[in-house]
Amino acid sequence: MRIDVITIFPDYLAPLGLSLVGKAREQGMLDMRVHDLRDFTHDRHRTVDDEPYGGGPGMVMRPEPWGEALDAVLTEHADPLLVIPTPSGGPFTQSLATAWAARPGMVIACGRYEGIDARVADHYAAQAEVVPVCLGDYVLAGGEVAALAIVEAVTRLLPGVVGNEASIADDSFAPGSMEGLVEGPVYTRPPEWRGHAVPDVLLSGDHGRIAAWRREQAERRTRDMRPDLLEG
Ligand code: SAM
Repeated sequence: MRIDVITIFPDYLAPLGLSLVGKAREQGMLDMRVHDLRDFTHDRHRTVDDEPYGGGPGMVMRPEPWGEALDAVLTEHADPLLVIPTPSGGPFTQSLATAWAARPGMVIACGRYEGIDARVADHYAAQAEVVPVCLGDYVLAGGEVAALAIVEAVTRLLPGVVGNEASIADDSFAPGSMEGLVEGPVYTRPPEWRGHAVPDVLLSGDHGRIAAWRREQAERRTRDMRPDLLEG
């Protein structure tokens, strides 16, 4: 899979050289390229922002550098998907991550300031699938943290990236037996730690009882922490 990230802070994406994503890149499963939006400006100050039309606080990212950057990068994608992190997008979910992991690639456009001039998304909708996505109901300073989250969530679903694929199937939100639920509590050795014991059932070796217990715990945790997931 190929992922391009366009940002004014390329160094922000450095952690994508580490751990699971870093390994996927080293092993050739992920071709990740980070581009500096300012390389697509032509003035001495490498300006990417300007005052908002209609007035108001803050600055807006100008469309011209975005146009040049996206013209250069999107055309290298056969089936272009343009992801625009923004608090006003739809939720970024595990099912989106799963759908995107099956695509040949994506381009992530990281906004800053008050966001990117809206004509950019409108313009590229004619040549790409444009998806504005929100990471959660809070406001970050820029799209880079969202890009880190999206790249990691998608990369761990690429075939061969996570050693034991069963662990992906058991995850919170994953399609499968636990669909629509968050995962319950997990334990490892020692069997007792500071007076807290591991639940007996997990030491029983009875796979049927363990599966039933895990399901019940997942349901309980979902009811307690994420009742919204159970609606409908
Ligand atoms: N004025 C914008 C609003 O209220 O919708 C907030 C802009 S925010 C300060 C700057 C950039 O951070 C956005 O363009 C987007 O790239 C990113 N961002 C902030 N919060 C986000 C979130 N919850 N999900 C995804 N991206 C976010």
